[in-house]
Amino acid sequence: MNPTYKKLLARWKDISALASASGLCGWDQETMLPPRGIEARSEQESALSGVIHEKVIDPELGKMLRDLTEHPAGLTADQRACVREWVRDYEHSVKLPPELVREMARVTSLSQAAWIKARKASDFKAFAPWLEKVIALKRREADALGYKGERYDALLDTYEPEMTVAQLDPIVQQVREGLVPIVHAISRSKAKISDELLRRRYPEADQEALCKEIMTIVGLDTEAARLDRSAHPFCCGIAPTDVRITTRYDEHWLPGSLYGVIHESGHALYEQGLPAKHYGTPLAEAVSLGIHESQSRFWENVIGRSRPFVRFIFPRLKKRFPLALGRADAEAFYRSINHVMPSAIRVEADEVTYNMHVVLRYELEKGLMAGRIKVRELPALWNERMKEYLGVTPKNDAEGVLQDTHWPQGLVGYFPTYLLGNLNAAQLWNALKKDVRGAEAQVAKGELSQILGWLRKNVHCHGRRYGPAELIERATGEKPTPRYFLEYLKEKYGEIYQIDQF
Ligand code: MG
Repeated sequence: MNPTYKKLLARWKDISALASASGLCGWDQETMLPPRGIEARSEQESALSGVIHEKVIDPELGKMLRDLTEHPAGLTADQRACVREWVRDYEHSVKLPPELVREMARVTSLSQAAWIKARKASDFKAFAPWLEKVIALKRREADALGYKGERYDALLDTYEPEMTVAQLDPIVQQVREGLVPIVHAISRSKAKISDELLRRRYPEADQEALCKEIMTIVGLDTEAARLDRSAHPFCCGIAPTDVRITTRYDEHWLPGSLYGVIHESGHALYEQGLPAKHYGTPLAEAVSLGIHESQSRFWENVIGRSRPFVRFIFPRLKKRFPLALGRADAEAFYRSINHVMPSAIRVEADEVTYNMHVVLRYELEKGLMAGRIKVRELPALWNERMKEYLGVTPKNDAEGVLQDTHWPQGLVGYFPTYLLGNLNAAQLWNALKKDVRGAEAQVAKGELSQILGWLRKNVHCHGRRYGPAELIERATGEKPTPRYFLEYLKEKYGEIYQIDQF
């Protein structure tokens, strides 16, 4: 091995291990940390971020990267890909002042704790000063990183490499224009579909047992994953051999845990599918959040909410919940979990209206970054747009502007990756069905290994070898497009809601 590369590899493995430890601190904060531990935790997170940042911006590391970029002869294709991605990470970090990195970690840890309290009390005013601090820091961060178009581009690029507002706006518009007639046709449909079935009583202990069973059904290695509880469900990949997912339980809303866990399992399958032999390098890291979310939405919606999958799991559900489901059949359950109803809460939204929630957040955070929108204006703007896009008025701020954990955590520029994930999932499924014969029949039998195998081979195993757009093109033979997502919705919901033409 090239001696410079060898040295560089050892350095990045350390950095990667520290980043994993920081991820574990974050996981612990949301699952286990006693309330009074928060001040100490914010200091720990700040110190760890500072150490990681110092290690990445070390001039000696920069020099090694320059050497290898200028003299790549003798490096394997894998090593060249790692160098290219390390340069990206290095150049990103070197632009950020160390003081800003530490301050960001400290403030977002505290603001997250403030948000949890404010959300409980539905008190936006109590949270607003924290959000102002976070937004001010994110603006500084974006300015330090630099951008060609809008300030927002700098943040978007950290989650979705190479994506810009100029590219994203037309995609968002196409999705919006495609969705409006679908939502209208569904609202006019005479088909009687309701989610009453899902609101019966589902004892919490049985839900938890079901969730653990589902993790195994979709193919998770449960020796390398665990399930816990948190206020907001998430997946945290510590390493391909240690992936944490969380959920929450509501005895009168089964999909909250069931479909939440299928969703997070999709993320976890991606993390477990990253090549463990490359752990500590970009080849064992997720390429973008739009690709990450494509995996969660693929399992949650494309597979999980499909008729064949419901036919497969329904007998198991009935066994666990005889009181709630004793008289129901699989078809009724299928219709219930695909009930379309505009609602205030994003994580509970159906597949059709979900993206409108993303559009709303995208517009608001773009405005915050550009300085067109002030933090104090958010609750009113939020409610106005909810009314306009979905015809819904949140009961209070807890159901409105305070519902998501992203802004308190400083995750600005993150929401659009949910929309991209939905588009990617549909495009991947379309390509997968051509390669895997009888994919739907396999799902109906609960045989998911060929489907997972296809994702492993075409998505998971590459890590950051290709950019997100190139990865989709290689996997599907086509550049990323919203077409397959809109077609998927029309076909599925046309049948459920008996609509001949949209
Ligand atoms: Mg997700």
